[in-house]
Order: sequence, then C-alpha cells, then structure tokens
Amino acid sequence: MNIHEYQAKALFEKYGVAVPKGAAARSAAEFESALASLPDGAVIVKSQIHAGGRGKGTFTDGFKGGVKFAKTKADALEYAGKMFNNTLVTIQTGPAGRKVQTIYFTQASDIKKEYYLAILLDRNTSKPVIVASTEGGVDIETVAHNTPEKIFKIVIDPAYGIADFQVRELIQKLGLNPAESKNAAKLLKGLYTFFWETDAAMVEVNPLITTPDDKVLALDAKVSFDSNALYRHPEIVALRDLNEEDPKEIEASKYGLSYIALDGNIACLVNGAGLAMSTMDIIGHFGGTPANFLDVGGGASKDQVVAAFKIILGDKNVKGILVNIFGGIMDCNVIATGIVEAVKEVGLKLPLVVRLEGNNVAAGKATLAASGLALVSGDTMADAAQKIVKLVA
Ligand code: ADP
Ligand code: MG
Repeated sequence: MNIHEYQAKALFEKYGVAVPKGAAARSAAEFESALASLPDGAVIVKSQIHAGGRGKGTFTDGFKGGVKFAKTKADALEYAGKMFNNTLVTIQTGPAGRKVQTIYFTQASDIKKEYYLAILLDRNTSKPVIVASTEGGVDIETVAHNTPEKIFKIVIDPAYGIADFQVRELIQKLGLNPAESKNAAKLLKGLYTFFWETDAAMVEVNPLITTPDDKVLALDAKVSFDSNALYRHPEIVALRDLNEEDPKEIEASKYGLSYIALDGNIACLVNGAGLAMSTMDIIGHFGGTPANFLDVGGGASKDQVVAAFKIILGDKNVKGILVNIFGGIMDCNVIATGIVEAVKEVGLKLPLVVRLEGNNVAAGKATLAASGLALVSGDTMADAAQKIVKLVA
C-alpha cells in the first residue's frame, strides 16, 4: 500500500526525521489556510499523487511541472489552482496520468547539496538494505546505470537494527561535514526505526538535502507498506487513498478476489494464482495480451463469480473473456452458474471462451449448454487460449 508524500512526512516527523514545514489542502477552499500556516517567503507547491517524477511531469492541459517553486504565497495559490483537479503525467504514471486531488505546500529550503537515500527489503539477503548516493534529486536508475560506484549499500541485520558503525560508514561515504554528520545520524536512525516499526516495504527520500546551515532534511518521501502486515497498523490503513487506486481493484477486494488490472484486452477469470499466471502466459504465447490477473480462489462462491464477471465486463478495454477453471476444491458447476447469472444481469456482447476441467465438470458444462449462452468452449488451455486470441483479433 502506498501513501502520499505529505502523509509520509507527517510520519517521518514522529520518528525524528527532519522535513521542511508543510501543509496539505484537499480542496481549493483549504489553499489559503494551508498557506497561512507556513512562514512568509518562498513556497514549493507539490501535487500529491502516488507516483514519482512529478517535478518533470506535465499536466494534460499543457501546464508544466507537478512540483513548482513559488516566490510568494500569491504565486503558490495560482500554481495550486492550476494543478488541482488537473491530470498529471509523469514517467511513473503511464500516459493516462493521475488526477491531482491534494496539494501540499511546503517551505522552500535552501539546498546546499542533494543526496539519495532509500531503505528497502533486499530479497537476496532477506534483510533491510540502506541505499544511498551523493547523486540525489535525479533518476536513481540512471545513476545506477552510468555511475554505479556512486551508489552505496549497507545491509542491516534485523536482529540488531542499524549499528553506529554502519551509520558512520554511510556518512563518511556521503562526505558530510561534522555538523551535517550529527544531523544525518539522527535522521538515518529515525528513518530506519520508521521503516522497521511500520513494516514498510520501501522508503525513498530523493532528494535528501543539506542546507547552508548544515541541516539535513528529507525533501521528498515515497513510502510503501507491506500489505500482508497492514493488519498490525490500523493507523496506516487509515491513510489509504482510494482515489489513487483502480476502482475495479477496490471492488474486487470487497469480494475477496485477487484482481490486478493490466493493459491488454483479454480478460481472464481463473481459479488459483498459479493457473492465473500460466493463463496470462499462454495468452501471451499465442500473441494476445491479458487485461487482468484475476484469481477467484480455490473455493469461490457463486456471488464471488458474479462479482468477478461484473468487474471484468466493467473494463472498457476488454474485448474478450477467457474463463479457465481447474476444479480441484472448486466445483465447476458453481463457476458455470455464476457465469450464467452474471451474464443475465449485465448482458454479454463479447466473445467468451470457457475451459472447464475437474470436479463436477459434466454438471458445469450442462449448465452452460442449457443457458443458451453464446460461448465457445475450449478443450485444453492451449485450445482455449488460441480461440480467444483469434476472436479478439
Ligand atoms: P518528484 O521526485 O516527484 O519530482 P520532489 O519532491 O523530489 O518530486 O521534487 C522535485 C524537485 O523539487 C526536488 O528534486 C527538489 O530539487 C525540488 N524541491 C522539492 N521540495 C523542495 C523544497 N521543500 N525546497 C526546495 N526545493 C524543493
Ligand atoms: Mg523526488
């Protein structure tokens, strides 16, 4: 689960991670009061979306920059007006972009130097790793590609936490002066504690900055949490912003379906994550592209199947549907009944290929046949995949 920069910074402050003073506004009516809470002087106006690269992004109406330097509060008000409810496209949003529904105003900091700092879980060592670089504020992938020697990594033993010698090593590699080092040490320890205690999956601060008076501040904050650990953190779940999530995925989660929207045009309804993955692969193998990953689970009820079918049919990119069921625990007839019911409710104008196999398959096939639905049946996965790819072509 991702949160916004302004939310991440509020959490940072609780852990002693220094950030510039800021205030968020969730409606245009709140702009003035948010700005009034900041000291006079230059303000940075920041679009809040769950994607990076905002500074270099462009809005769909041509307005440039999702992060703007404003000399005065009056300028800040004007920029905020241009960003709010506008759609921002960045290298991370995809061409459709994201609608900006929150604006964060933050005091402009005097930047001496920009650094990169991140903490994430390293899957190779199964340990948290701190990644830092002297090259901050820019795309870290480019730094990793062109000058990998400028990226430092420190692996933390989760049983001990971050050790003082590791903090010193990192600070030395970043080349900080004594006053900066003292502030950086506090920030690093706070950020690691935050990462650890909140079950974060990734914390990225790009840029981390030093100021002419040797302060060390987190200027940006991108944080995601391990969804499997959210049950331990109701206060973090409360930060979830449904505006940033695909409505189809929200609907699916209500019914306990594992659904992830993708860019293709062949919808898949499958039981079991492994079968769902291989169904997507086989669609790709025969030259098609899946519109989604959808696992109705091992023991889906008829209601879940109806909900799944409706979600699929609600996606305007979908040009055809492939149902691929292997009934182990799943009763094929439950799936068949769910399909018939859903189609009765919402209608079906798209090609539908169904491959059913396993538990109670005869009854399932009989239900589909008796329904009079115009569907194509596939004998094997390969047969079914080829048929649907051909039908949407
Ligand atoms: P993104 O990474 O999404 O583009 P950032 O928050 O990193 O957004 O902002 C882009 C750039 O704007 C930063 O690299 C930094 O140079 C500048 N910036 C952001 N916040 C501030 C601030 N409070 N004071 C001064 N400059 C800032
Ligand atoms: Mg950034």
